[in-house]
Amino acid sequence: MPAAPSQSLWSATAAAAPAFTPLARARRVDVAIIGAGYTGLSAALHLAGAGREVLVLEAKELGERASGLNGGQVIAGLKTDPDALEELFGPERGARLVASVAAGPDVVFELIGRHEIDCDALRTGWIQPATSAAALTQLMARVEQWRRRGAAVELLDARAVGLLTGSARYCGGLLDRRGGTVQPLSYVRGLARAVTRAGGQICVRSPALHLRRAAREWQIETPHAAVTAPAVIVATNAYSGALVGALRRSIITVPSFQVATVPLTSAQRAQILPGGQAASDTWHLLRYFRLDATGRLLLGARGTFGRAPGPRSCRPHYRAVLDIYPHLAGVAFEYHWGGLVAMTRDHLPHLHELAPGLLAGLGYNGRGVAMATLMGRILAQRTLGMSDAELAFPVTPVRTIPFHRASRLGARAAIQYLRAVDGLARIQARLRGGHSWT
Ligand SMILES: Cc1cc2nc3c(=O)[nH]c(=O)nc-3n(C[C@H](O)[C@H](O)[C@H](O)COP(=O)(O)OP(=O)(O)OC[C@H]3O[C@@H](n4cnc5c(N)ncnc54)[C@H](O)[C@@H]3O)c2cc1C
Repeated sequence: MPAAPSQSLWSATAAAAPAFTPLARARRVDVAIIGAGYTGLSAALHLAGAGREVLVLEAKELGERASGLNGGQVIAGLKTDPDALEELFGPERGARLVASVAAGPDVVFELIGRHEIDCDALRTGWIQPATSAAALTQLMARVEQWRRRGAAVELLDARAVGLLTGSARYCGGLLDRRGGTVQPLSYVRGLARAVTRAGGQICVRSPALHLRRAAREWQIETPHAAVTAPAVIVATNAYSGALVGALRRSIITVPSFQVATVPLTSAQRAQILPGGQAASDTWHLLRYFRLDATGRLLLGARGTFGRAPGPRSCRPHYRAVLDIYPHLAGVAFEYHWGGLVAMTRDHLPHLHELAPGLLAGLGYNGRGVAMATLMGRILAQRTLGMSDAELAFPVTPVRTIPFHRASRLGARAAIQYLRAVDGLARIQARLRGGHSWT
């Protein structure tokens, strides 16, 4: 039986939720943070650790958005490769940026360790299996660039990737030992607990409705009470609404759906990702998959616009599971759920200073478990007075996407196009009687 669409695998298996209530009375704090995902909570934790009085406002319940819904893959680096980043940002700043995004998983696993967060954290590595010879050539360059920088990343041939993934679908790949997995909802709940233990306050069901500057302070109105603070961090990412319209118009949001099977048999588990790694392949519309602590296989991929994840809209996902693991034919699926991913035009996350004392960080392009946690720390550093030149990420002005509504339609069309390109490659491979990479 499929689970109710509102229940994800993560909400069925997460560590208990800490109890939070809405903001009921007016408060004045050092820093107010809007959004209680990884970005907002990591910023809050780093600021509370530095002795600042912080209050986090969350519109929903904790973890109802991307940070509680994602694949839990902790991935080092950005989608843009290190050499290209250094070219974009220059040798000095670029090298610092590369070093800091390379250490994204360190930030996550250190926080988990220091705050004893119970979230099934595993640092067994991340696999990027190649779906074509051309993709493998790109992976070779990626591996070479990371190895030149001393990272524990290695190239895998078809046999090695087959053994690690348990799938014969891939022609090679890379293994990045810096990565790992978490139970994402337990991680967000654990971060929230750590924030309150450090003296910060979190209010749920407290949407920031209006934000205005008054007498060198910011005032945020919520349904029942207002918060005043000299510094505000907007951490709303893909769920940015009308509060700061320019943020919403600086990203394109795309749906990503996930499905999870019933717990696999021990024989199946011994074959599928036996080393406990997570994987994200190289299709244009990539598929990401892993096992969870209960032995379920979960797979995520682009979802359909305008339709909630359900047994019908997730059929392509069920087919994808069987494409990768044909021997799972007949396996039952128990959960399907989805959320929104914030994409930027340059595929890079952005750190903005919207006005004096008003910061925002967003746009992780599907790499937010490590990157949003890291961005939270950078936002805290900036709030504490670190200069732009010292920050890992430059402070940039918000660039709204021209004809934003049309761009969203364009994104839908582009996704349909890429789906067709991937589909054609798979059909051609089947007609050749081999794999997509033969
Ligand atoms: C299905 C899916 C799978 C993914 N898989 C992976 C993965 O495996 N690995 C990876 O690295 N990344 C993954 N990502 C991306 C990752 O989840 C995000 O980048 C990351 O969680 C972003 O964290 P955040 O705190 O910035 O945003 P969110 O977690 O979305 O938090 C923003 C919060 O702001 C709140 N908010 C919005 N407006 C207001 C307001 N006005 N007032 C108060 N609160 C407000 C929202 O309710 C929300 O809780 C995935 C994303 C999705 C959707």
